Amino acid sequence: MKVLKFGGTSVGSVENLRKVKQIVESQNDDLVVIVSALGGITDKILTMAKTAATTRTFSTTEMMEVTTRHMTTIETLVPVEFQSEIKEIIQNKLDDLSGIIHGIALLGELTNRTLDRVGGLGEMLSSVIIAKILGAQWMNSMELIKTDSNFLKAEVDFDITNANIQKAFIGFKGVAVAPGFVASNESNEPTTLGRGGSDFTGAIYAAALNVDSLEIWTDVNGFMTADPRVIRKAYTIDYLTYAEAMELSHFGAKVIYPPTILPVYRKKIPVWIKNTMQPEEAGTLIGHERKYGKERIIKGISSISSITLLTLHGAGMVGVTGTSMRLFTALSRAQVNVILISQASSENSISVAISDADAQKASEAVNSEFEHEIKHGLINGLIIEKELSIVAIVGENMKESAGIAGKLFNILGKNGVNIRAIAQGASELNISWVVKTTDLRKTLNVVHEGFFLTSYKELNLFLMGIGTVGGNFIQQLKQQQEKLFVEKRLKVKLVGVANSKKMLFDRDGIDLDNYFDSLSRSEELSNSKKYVNHMIEMNVFNSVFIDCTASETVAEDYQRILDARISIVAANKVAASSAYKKYKLLKDTAVINGTKFFFETNVGAGLPILSTINDLINSGDKILKIQAVLSGTLNYIFNTISSEIPLSKAISMAKDAGYSEPDPRIDLSGKDVMRKLLILARESGYELEEHDIVVEKFIPESLFEGEISNFKNGIKALDAEFELLRKQLAAANKKWRFIATFEEEKSVVSLQEVEFGSPFYDLEGSNNIILFTTERYKEYPMQIKGYGAGADVTAAGVFADIIRIANI
Ligand code: ADP
Ligand code: ASP
Ligand code: MG
Repeated sequence: MKVLKFGGTSVGSVENLRKVKQIVESQNDDLVVIVSALGGITDKILTMAKTAATTRTFSTTEMMEVTTRHMTTIETLVPVEFQSEIKEIIQNKLDDLSGIIHGIALLGELTNRTLDRVGGLGEMLSSVIIAKILGAQWMNSMELIKTDSNFLKAEVDFDITNANIQKAFIGFKGVAVAPGFVASNESNEPTTLGRGGSDFTGAIYAAALNVDSLEIWTDVNGFMTADPRVIRKAYTIDYLTYAEAMELSHFGAKVIYPPTILPVYRKKIPVWIKNTMQPEEAGTLIGHERKYGKERIIKGISSISSITLLTLHGAGMVGVTGTSMRLFTALSRAQVNVILISQASSENSISVAISDADAQKASEAVNSEFEHEIKHGLINGLIIEKELSIVAIVGENMKESAGIAGKLFNILGKNGVNIRAIAQGASELNISWVVKTTDLRKTLNVVHEGFFLTSYKELNLFLMGIGTVGGNFIQQLKQQQEKLFVEKRLKVKLVGVANSKKMLFDRDGIDLDNYFDSLSRSEELSNSKKYVNHMIEMNVFNSVFIDCTASETVAEDYQRILDARISIVAANKVAASSAYKKYKLLKDTAVINGTKFFFETNVGAGLPILSTINDLINSGDKILKIQAVLSGTLNYIFNTISSEIPLSKAISMAKDAGYSEPDPRIDLSGKDVMRKLLILARESGYELEEHDIVVEKFIPESLFEGEISNFKNGIKALDAEFELLRKQLAAANKKWRFIATFEEEKSVVSLQEVEFGSPFYDLEGSNNIILFTTERYKEYPMQIKGYGAGADVTAAGVFADIIRIANI
């Protein structure tokens, strides 16, 4: 014999009930089928009762809906010859329901006893109908299962119940259908087993009849590594021990009602969790044996919200025996269920996690118990923290493994999740901890990603600036997204994007095909502070902020962003070239927080320059000298000037080609190159400031003052003079290169004439070249050469930084 329990969704629609019928008919065993109320009916009935009490009215529409759901089910699925008989039974029960609700409305009063009179009616209705659909015998759980009078969550009297069930099933063959959830007390008044209690009913029958297995049929493919509604990557666990299943459900995994396990555990009856909608899926087996070897150490993660943490602390508690006993006695007297306990070994504080609903009575009970100590300052009173959640990871094999807690808290710390309290059972079956509910989603995501073999890793990007570089980056992301996912198991999602006018967010990922339209249509006006605030509030795991602006205001927010444990990829040079103290603080913060601050594209666009410096230094080399052409714009200009193309024209061509900074004066003044040299030197380990670098301008200082038009006109006036110099240079077979040189004693950026044979001579278009003289590369410096400007290579460099963060 087997017990099959079908939950609310499984019996919630005509289509699913047909599946239930198929499942039942495919079994070749005697069966007890336990059913829940049709999906949503229990909630509806309880709401009707509560609304009747508070508003003193009776809602006919709600009553009609409940009636129609059941009548339609009968009309569609019950054989015609039984329909009128069943309809009459159902109508009688519905009349009872409506009578009680009318009574509640009249009195304006609702006790738990009355709630239990109506609460279980959904199961009474559904079971009668389903028995007829299956051609099975109906058994009345309300009579068979006996409980105390603790309405809403009554305690089962197993002696009487087992005897009742065994008696009812003597000689039974075939299929029986019985309602879940319902029971009755000594005086035969209806009671219920607690919300979700039909699973428990299944276990009660299973244990009483000592069946071969209990099958819980529900709407997911089994017990999963986490709640699939929160963690999309959660997957089905093949096997769990009773203890593991009990822990996971106790800490919030709704798939099975916690008390269910105990009766079947005692009898070692195997439990299956199966999906009614996909019966061919293997599901989860819960059993007695502990499996070693291939099993994962951590089986699952679950959580409970609406938690309050009460902390009793004070020097007067140290070494005083009996404090915790008094605390727990007080809580138990007030009927407060303690979910988690955490005590510091110094004994000067003890924290208990309880449900929010119990917070008031718990704090009153504790305050009155310790009134004397609080009054005399021995105990500092009770700290009450609300809006918390408990998260637990569970696995029996944790006992034999060191380092789980270390890994766990490292993952949480890196993601900026603050832990309010921790508890580990002495059985080492679970580690549970308390976090702010606002951090819950992030906690579940990072822990799941850290401990389970998830099929892919996720990165959530917040992009600021969609000009040439940012826009190009989005195009590249669009092209690569699928490939990264398929080949590297990396899901890169754009979850936020902003330009200077609008901002747009979507936790599920912004559609890259239409991002521009969606952004333009977005209601939200943008400024960088607002954007960063929103990003921090969203509290998304594995977040990366990408700065494709040239804005000082945006750079001012980097510290705040890193503090929020969000990594930064910056094409913007402002931060890395600001005051050394600021730069250093950002770098240090990133290291301390375990986040990344990458800005490879600040120098040489997509060329791997900064990463090379880092590799050299980390492997023990020392950079002695840097010589470089670092301005793609200037190199392009000096390569383009000819008898036909004067200086002024070459400058505007560089802008049109997307090489120059938005304001070309930053390039022409040498300021851009100076910033790059500053960054190179700093990354090489030297504490340099802007004023340590000598900038020799090749354009008169006066042109850089005032309006941009002043600059443009001034340059035109220089065209002839430059052409004269250019001719002389060409005749001598030399070229102009704007070269940056760093040496510990002196750093200069200046326009130089280079001869044929120099490494700087053959440098086409907008290319860059960097020569590093190091302790290892002394005689022949290391060279890196290639495209040093352009939106596409810069965007590619940004992309490369993001991939480095993903660490694939
Ligand atoms: P039923 O009505 O069949 O009793 P429930 O809604 O009570 O179904 O339980 C199934 C639901 O439990 C799933 O739809 C899922 O959303 C939720 N759930 C929470 N944690 C887990 C988990 N670890 N594994 C599977 N389901 C879970
Ligand atoms: N119908 C009850 C509830 O919704 C019991 C159950 O379905 O398990 O809580
Ligand atoms: Mg359930």
